[in-house]
Amino acid sequence: MTPLPLPSDPPLLFQGLLVEPEEARSILRPQKDERYGFGFALSPYRGCSHGCRYCYVREYPNALHRAEEWGNWVTPKLNAPELLWSQRHRLHGERVFMASATDPYQPLERQYRLSRRCLEVLLLCPTTEVIVHTRSPLVLQDLDLLRAFGDRLTVGLSIPTDDDTVRQTVEPHAPAIPSRWAAVERLAAAGIGVTVAVTPLMAVHDAQAFARRARASGASGAWVGGLRLLKQDPFYKVLADHGWLKVLDPTYAEGIRQAFREAFPTRRRVRERPVKPPPLPPPPIRQPGLFDRVG
Ligand code: SF4
Repeated sequence: MTPLPLPSDPPLLFQGLLVEPEEARSILRPQKDERYGFGFALSPYRGCSHGCRYCYVREYPNALHRAEEWGNWVTPKLNAPELLWSQRHRLHGERVFMASATDPYQPLERQYRLSRRCLEVLLLCPTTEVIVHTRSPLVLQDLDLLRAFGDRLTVGLSIPTDDDTVRQTVEPHAPAIPSRWAAVERLAAAGIGVTVAVTPLMAVHDAQAFARRARASGASGAWVGGLRLLKQDPFYKVLADHGWLKVLDPTYAEGIRQAFREAFPTRRRVRERPVKPPPLPPPPIRQPGLFDRVG
């Protein structure tokens, strides 16, 4: 196997991906807006080889200024676990979201294990809650570690459509939808709290069957979040060319949301116990305008 580069090495093309490791200066991004439902976002990588065509991160300055297209480069933050360890005093009673600007279980995690090592640090922070958000069944490689968190960890599997042919167009390098369902089932069977994140909502073939599938998978809840897109975004043309502009219509999203409400009739909090001192429980996990919890 090709050796993976260290920060001092020149960038390496690894299985077609430009890998440029770095020593990061910071690892915890505070989230002050309580509606998001977490105090810090944690991204062990910059860039994301899933390269979803709608991904808003591709518009970030550090992505826009690169010669390579979004999805063709990844920067592992090699010191992420050590940096997190040095910052652990900030995490008391907090909730951490991993990850908001990358997928913590993109294929490189097989080699670098940065997400795993960050989780090992978080496991040693007994008052810290964790949300792992991914599109990848690779999360299963850490099943035992995830289970060790008990009820202070939830995994959100992003499944934005029930139709893998839609996925092949909008998320061409991300894992297939059936493999994500299998991951939800294995996580749930292992006793790990798992939610289905229908985010951002893409074209759906059969909303009722989709929602029933989510329920049958053992997920404890689901989210449906609409896509917000400017007309000048190139992804707008992708949607138009495929006849999928309906995903931008709030009534379409509401119809899908209703199907999920029926499949998950009991509204449950992700957390039963507060993560901060009483009297207020933590806010429900929410990304405004993106996630809308239905179960
Ligand atoms: S998995 Fe997430 S971060 Fe990665 S490209 Fe897709 S939307 Fe962007």
